[in-house]
Amino acid sequence: MYRMPVAVTVLAVSATTVLAVKLISVKDEIEIGRQAQQQVKADVPELREASVRSYVTGIGRALTTRAAGPKYPYSFSVANYQEINAFALPGGPVWINRGVIESAATEAQLAGVLAHEIAHIAQRHAADQITKSLVANGLIGLLGAVLGNDGRGSRAAQIGAQVLAGGYMLKFSRDDEREADTVGARIMRRAGWDPRGMIEFMEVLRRQQGRDPGSVSVFLSTHPAPAERAARLRTELKSMSGGRRDTPQFQTVRARVKRLPPAPRMGGR
Ligand SMILES: [Zn+2]
Repeated sequence: MYRMPVAVTVLAVSATTVLAVKLISVKDEIEIGRQAQQQVKADVPELREASVRSYVTGIGRALTTRAAGPKYPYSFSVANYQEINAFALPGGPVWINRGVIESAATEAQLAGVLAHEIAHIAQRHAADQITKSLVANGLIGLLGAVLGNDGRGSRAAQIGAQVLAGGYMLKFSRDDEREADTVGARIMRRAGWDPRGMIEFMEVLRRQQGRDPGSVSVFLSTHPAPAERAARLRTELKSMSGGRRDTPQFQTVRARVKRLPPAPRMGGR
């Protein structure tokens, strides 16, 4: 049984408590993310093609050098799944599905997906969501424990395990999603890509939703409607233009991925 990685990233919790401060330290966040990453690595088939991995990592690193916020140990992994999906774990790990590479038309579109996930991490959205989730689930005691000085690693591991095993999924708020678009676009521009690539990929999502809803259902269950996101970003980026749109490397990597045996579907359907 395949357990959705979104169970890790997205907290479907309607916590009424809105906390003004992030009660989870950067260190705890990184440790929780490390634990979650181990679980995801055990559950998700990873695309092992060295050239694809190093290409995606290269784009990711170029973006993270332009991200503000704590110096997280960012990493980039490609899941061998055909659906379009991407998610960020607390404190650094970013995943995209192979389906993202295959459905993006240009490097700027791929960079847009990565930049959005990097922005979630850089803005520490997971710290908010984990805190809210622990409060909502009456696990605030664990939080107190994590803030104690002793056994920090093992407490973080305990929270990571709770976040995973509880099945309550890390779902970012709409405000967080909007912020990830805005901040992600800024990161793209600073790193030299045309941020309009992000809008174009939202159009890809919208078209795909009409053509094959199942291929984007997981992604769309955790993100606002693509048309709405695109309209908002278009207004925001109105005065912004220029930047790298595509490279021969992207087209080479995409062609290579398309020649591989078809990727399995998430959930093994
Ligand atoms: Zn998001």
